[in-house]
Amino acid sequence: MVESPVYGQIRTGVCKLFGVYPSSIEQRKGGTMSAQQALDELKVGNKRFVAHLHHEVPTDNHNRQHELIINQKPIAIIVGCSDARVPPELVFDQGMGDLFVIRVAGNIVMPSQIESVEFAALQFGPRLIVVLGHSQCGALQATIGALKGPPERVADMYPTVVEYVRPSVDAAIEACPNGTDDEILHTATHANVRRSMAELRKGSVSLRRLEAEEGLMVVGAHYAIETGVVEFFEDAKVGPVSKEKTTL
Ligand SMILES: [Zn+2]
Repeated sequence: MVESPVYGQIRTGVCKLFGVYPSSIEQRKGGTMSAQQALDELKVGNKRFVAHLHHEVPTDNHNRQHELIINQKPIAIIVGCSDARVPPELVFDQGMGDLFVIRVAGNIVMPSQIESVEFAALQFGPRLIVVLGHSQCGALQATIGALKGPPERVADMYPTVVEYVRPSVDAAIEACPNGTDDEILHTATHANVRRSMAELRKGSVSLRRLEAEEGLMVVGAHYAIETGVVEFFEDAKVGPVSKEKTTL
């Protein structure tokens, strides 16, 4: 189909605003891209997603499939929730082979998640790790509900997830004793992301070395199901104890 001049001008302007999605994995520079470059890619990709400009990627994936037979060069590792409403490739407008994704309910970090992240960081070279929490997280909601119910019920409900998430929920309840469930959920979700960031660092000598010597960055982020917007924690590189202002 021939593109009209007017549409071409609009498209050029849009691409200047939101970036252009490269069609080749070689152009993506995954494995050699710095953490900040990868973070910028994800930020601009989410802007494309929010602006409903993410339609180019699926057609590129068909070509990518053949390129990826030999190798993969993901630009980032994502530790996210299994929630069907938060698919990282879509919300960051990335294609096949761009993201190494570990998804588990509540984006919790246990030994198997740490080893998966280590494997990707050491084998494929991405220098950015994003722990991605989200609004309306069922794992957090279930934990809040369990803690408000009879004590004996707590251990019965998803014991591993509840055990992991519980300190973040307890801290949120303590921080806002008169808070609504939504306020507690929001605070607990951010705290839970920070906990997972800390667990990754605590549990892996390799990740700490990569962070200290090779520019690895562990970043916290929050996806709003209501708007499609991902907010990255401003204190991304500092760790789990600082303020939670965001930049996008
Ligand atoms: Zn969730």
